[in-house]
Amino acid sequence: AGLGEDLAHRVERRRRSFGATSVLFYDRPLHVVAARGATLTTADGARYLDLYNNVPSVGHGHPKVVAAVRAQVGQLNIHSRYLIDVVDDYAERLLAHFPAPLANVAFTCTGSESNDLALRLARLASGGRGVVVSESAYHGNTAAVTEVSPSSYRKGGPPSFVRTVPPPHPAHYGADVAGGFARAVAAAINALKAHGHGFAALLVDTIFSSDGVHADPPGFLAPAAAAARAAGGLFIADEVQPGFGRTGTNMWGFARHGVVPDIVTLGKPMGNGIALGAVVTRPDLLAPFADAFGYFNTFGGSPVACAAGLAVLEALAEDGLMENARTVGARIAARLADLRPACPAIGEVRGAGLYLGIDIVARADGRPDPEGASGLINALRTRGILIGAAGPLGHTLKVRPPLCLTADEADSFIDALGAILRG
Ligand code: PMP
Repeated sequence: AGLGEDLAHRVERRRRSFGATSVLFYDRPLHVVAARGATLTTADGARYLDLYNNVPSVGHGHPKVVAAVRAQVGQLNIHSRYLIDVVDDYAERLLAHFPAPLANVAFTCTGSESNDLALRLARLASGGRGVVVSESAYHGNTAAVTEVSPSSYRKGGPPSFVRTVPPPHPAHYGADVAGGFARAVAAAINALKAHGHGFAALLVDTIFSSDGVHADPPGFLAPAAAAARAAGGLFIADEVQPGFGRTGTNMWGFARHGVVPDIVTLGKPMGNGIALGAVVTRPDLLAPFADAFGYFNTFGGSPVACAAGLAVLEALAEDGLMENARTVGARIAARLADLRPACPAIGEVRGAGLYLGIDIVARADGRPDPEGASGLINALRTRGILIGAAGPLGHTLKVRPPLCLTADEADSFIDALGAILRG
């Protein structure tokens, strides 16, 4: 209702072709035409601050990425079975950001493909099939990866060789989050084994974004990873969400926890919007897999994708984006703390760098308030700010902007949030 003829026509057109899987944000979907930095522009000329998008991580339309992709696509774009400088340069530059044992990379096009390959590697190495994931995990959309993505099931749940553990939070584990989480992982592994399933891997998003954003205390993942290894399985770190400097202090989410994974999976921010993902792992895990299957991905690590990836690494360093994620993220957290006394709807704030989760709670009793969160998402949109929700109930606002977000842009978000909450 009230969409206007033009917008109604566009929505209908989308639904006609995409059918039942069509998903458009907002009752009045945005008709976007351009983006720069952390700003999206719509067809009517309105500008929106993008707090949603972690894919254009170094900024929408970053000139360095645009120039690199433009130059490469006109020069050479082909699969990687020839020697190509930009591909080998990028592979080395990327691996230089990982701890020494993780010395090999296999390029893919998506996070889903990366996790699919990671599962294949872990299952071959362990001889088991069982996987432990967090309760509301999302790891991608292939047949195998959907099975380890409990949040993807609208009816039923994952198969019996997939076991879930509650997310790392004192509500589930008390004060000793690290110990409690590790014990839950060990119990899940025992349950797998009791049901005749071998154990292949503990697979987690190292900032637990779809579980509502859980980053603290730093180090909590180490005992869980140790429990997985003690049981003969691997630890797979899904860095699709926190990777590439977003947490503000480390290039990778796992590094915050002082743990070296067996397998790391990458995607989203890696190519700033050009399809680029990867599995980074140890040579001793990759070699037997190559003997058994080999791995080839036609578009994975194409010269254009690698040119984008290289430009992303350079932009991250040159623009000081990890540092910016740290300072601007801390500013948002501090301003939220200032706002909280006057705005009881603001509950717990979690996260690291420019990945924050803000719980929205009922004023009366502090209970999770998903309707309140969705009301805020819509109210913020009318004030030109785009943001999403996370967590099993959807009551956690997810702050996940391009890493170039400025202090002024951050302030405009907090000002708008405060104005809405104060009524
Ligand atoms: N892992 C995580 C943690 C993700 O959030 C996502 C995407 N939302 C994926 C994997 C899958 O990535 P893609 O959509 O590129 O396949």
